[in-house]
Amino acid sequence: MDNLFNHGGLILFLAAWVSASVGSFLNVVIYRLPIMLQQAFTSEAKAALAIPDHPPVAAFNLAVPRSHCPKCGHQIGALENIPLLSWVVQRGRCKSCTNPISARYPVVELLTLVVSMVVIARFGFTSTGLAACVFTWVLLTATMIDLDTMLLPDQLTLPLLWLGLIMNLSGTFVPLEQAVIGAVAGYLLLWSTRWGFKLLTGKEGMGYGDFKLLAALGAWVGWTLLPFMLLVASITGLAFALARIATQRMQRADPMPFGPCLAVAGWIALIAGERLAALLGMPH
Ligand SMILES: [Zn+2]
Repeated sequence: MDNLFNHGGLILFLAAWVSASVGSFLNVVIYRLPIMLQQAFTSEAKAALAIPDHPPVAAFNLAVPRSHCPKCGHQIGALENIPLLSWVVQRGRCKSCTNPISARYPVVELLTLVVSMVVIARFGFTSTGLAACVFTWVLLTATMIDLDTMLLPDQLTLPLLWLGLIMNLSGTFVPLEQAVIGAVAGYLLLWSTRWGFKLLTGKEGMGYGDFKLLAALGAWVGWTLLPFMLLVASITGLAFALARIATQRMQRADPMPFGPCLAVAGWIALIAGERLAALLGMPH
């Protein structure tokens, strides 16, 4: 333990480095997973309709093709792929064609770094801390994909749900009983809200991805924090909508993804839910 404290600065630096690199990988998932799902869906549909699938689609997954500039096709070398630093050093431009590179790449890397550090400050360098980091990274990825595409892929929400249940087998965050009821009640709460809303207004409100996400969050933090999470998600959604209306980027009737609001609420619930719910006089 002495060594750990002596080298505290180095360990923190390494943790920051690793989390920014994870952020770099999340950028790849955020960009590629929706395209991969679309391609899989198209080829399944073609197979079902007996439409020949040609010309054959070039391989596209998280590893292939290598990262490249979308404008000039220049392949990103190792030195240009250093999280945060490369973007700053190259002043946000492609080294080869000098076209701008979107600021969202370093923003996602920085955000991953910051939220990972908060998680480590809360849970320490422990297996619980690592699990909470994975939880955080999946939520961040789901948030960005929902903002981009209005979809929450099962490939993210379902593994998150299973992982939450597995972690709580030994009561890491909450007793297993609370986790199982949290998953079931989380799903049913939004499912019944959706049907109620549909019966009353005839409109579609939420998607099934939202139900699965709240089920996953319930599996991590337990059913007692479901009211707290719904409250935080509603406040987040309202703030987000008002900000977008104020900046004239949204009309009142425009659809808005609810997944990011749930993700924010779930993350706060895991980090500080019990204390905050107690402060608000809510069940916890
Ligand atoms: Zn380029």
